[in-house]
Amino acid sequence: MTRITSLLMAIAAAALYGSGSAHPVARANVEHAHPNCLASTIMGRDELLRVRKRAVDWGYEGAKGPFYWSTINPNYTSCSTGRFQSPVDIDSTIPATYDTPVEFYYPDNFTNVQVENLGFTVELFAPAKTAYIVRDGVKYYLANFHFHAPAEHHVEGKAHPAELHMVHRSDNGSITVLALYVENYNYEPQYWLDLFLKHVPRNETAPALTVPVYPIETLVGYFKNSELYWYYDGSLTAPPCTEGVHWIIASRPIPATKKELEWLGFLMDFNARPSQKNDNVPSSLH
Ligand SMILES: [Zn+2]
Repeated sequence: MTRITSLLMAIAAAALYGSGSAHPVARANVEHAHPNCLASTIMGRDELLRVRKRAVDWGYEGAKGPFYWSTINPNYTSCSTGRFQSPVDIDSTIPATYDTPVEFYYPDNFTNVQVENLGFTVELFAPAKTAYIVRDGVKYYLANFHFHAPAEHHVEGKAHPAELHMVHRSDNGSITVLALYVENYNYEPQYWLDLFLKHVPRNETAPALTVPVYPIETLVGYFKNSELYWYYDGSLTAPPCTEGVHWIIASRPIPATKKELEWLGFLMDFNARPSQKNDNVPSSLH
């Protein structure tokens, strides 16, 4: 056996068995291949796959990290010059409501729905126009839900272990994201989360897997049961940092076990942009 062959086998074993590490060897150098999580909503599916394959020019660490995005590509200038950027640190200056701020028109279950590992996140790709919300009289269709770990929107300076984004898009292209925190509680394994995690391919080069029946109503229930909701207008949280995104964040976290959160960390690298300045949020960084 050659030295290179044994090295490749060791890397393959690390990828296959994980060993519980949040940053396995085989995934240590792929952060530069992470395009914008919300870009998956704006771009078509085929376009997104092309982006993934050509390896984008930005990442989350070092010279390609969030502080340098605007210098990497002229299309990313909003990342530094934008006045309404996301995420933000949520405090008492953020508007809040105690009522569920949107109406849900979701099926109880999705059938034959696809789950993907995009490298920069892991997501469930919603069937076209099968689930939507109504906000201010406008329909926004669910495009996907995906994860960030740790959470992008801090609360009083603190980050939950993970944040789930349910990305909705209207027919005219405007975006509303419903955000839910995920927190480590000592509850039983969560079926909706386990089912999702079990279907996520181990790496981004693997094809999407199909879940025959997925209980999407569980997430709707969590969102409806939140104590209160914070809302503000911000941006995509990664290049090109486009603004005009409506954010509605549920205050009450979704429970997850330590094992579920570790597995989420195994499947994707660190993918949280730091808090940004936003003129809609008086206390945000300036
Ligand atoms: Zn996101």
